[in-house]
Amino acid sequence: MLRIAIQKSGRLSQESLDLIMECNIKVNNGKGKLKSNAVNFPMEILYLRDDDIPGYVADHVADIGIAGLNVVLEKGKNNRVVMQLGFSKCRLCLAIPKEIDYDGLEFFSGKNIATSYPNLTEGYLKEKGIKADIHEISGSVEIAPGIGLADAICDIVSSGSTLISNGLKEVETIMSSEAVLIANADLPAEKEMILEQFLFRINAVQKAKSFKYILLNAPNDKIDQIIDILPGMKSPTVVPLAMEGWSSLHSVINEEKFWEIIDHLKQAGAQGILVVPIEKMIL
Ligand code: ATP
Ligand code: ZN
Repeated sequence: MLRIAIQKSGRLSQESLDLIMECNIKVNNGKGKLKSNAVNFPMEILYLRDDDIPGYVADHVADIGIAGLNVVLEKGKNNRVVMQLGFSKCRLCLAIPKEIDYDGLEFFSGKNIATSYPNLTEGYLKEKGIKADIHEISGSVEIAPGIGLADAICDIVSSGSTLISNGLKEVETIMSSEAVLIANADLPAEKEMILEQFLFRINAVQKAKSFKYILLNAPNDKIDQIIDILPGMKSPTVVPLAMEGWSSLHSVINEEKFWEIIDHLKQAGAQGILVVPIEKMIL
């Protein structure tokens, strides 16, 4: 049995649960519950505040967990970051009132900085040789300068709209963050094996998300040219059509290259192009 801790309610909750379910792990819905069991995989899910997840994983209350890298590094527990999950992307930034001229990090010398990330803020400034007064506050950090509580803040930003609506501007980025899967540094072999299976499934789901399955028809004399355009995993499958002189080609393409390739395919004479999602991909 592997215990995973995920955020109970917040920005990480839905995507953490989605990830588990996309791995075909069925969960007795845990709305309002503290924990629930998976029915077809040896996994138990604990629903916690995100800030508590690194600590509980380090203390063996949970074996693994999903949290923002910002929280994981701030807590500084002895856990392993086993996978980047690609969602809840944001950055930790220093921001100051927008009307103040900013001419570099020296600005922060001797200033009061409000933050929920005192360790990361202090570590960053120390590395740059800057001494500032760091005040830890939890929640609504962005209002601190406006009410005279601080000269600057260090906080999580994604679009930046919260900063703007509080009259602040971002001046330095301390780190980029996204949701990560963490694991206790010292799991028993049996749990390590379940973790491997879980990672294998996440990998298959993540790979599948960035690729599409493509099917198209082409005259036989154009097949070589089209194969050159398709950056498939291996050589594409070619199946003859009932219509004399034509074939159907099947391949897998990277979603990012998709539109670029589609144009080239059409120019090369491809017809009836179908692009379909892939559910799982195991290489
Ligand atoms: P909890 O009640 O569990 O303590 P919280 O209010 O501390 O929740 P959320 O606001 O749900 O936390 O954010 C959780 C994580 O989502 C953050 O630590 C960060 O990694 C990520 N995140 C992504 N975008 C943003 C954003 N715009 N603002 C805040 N956090 C963000
Ligand atoms: Zn939190």
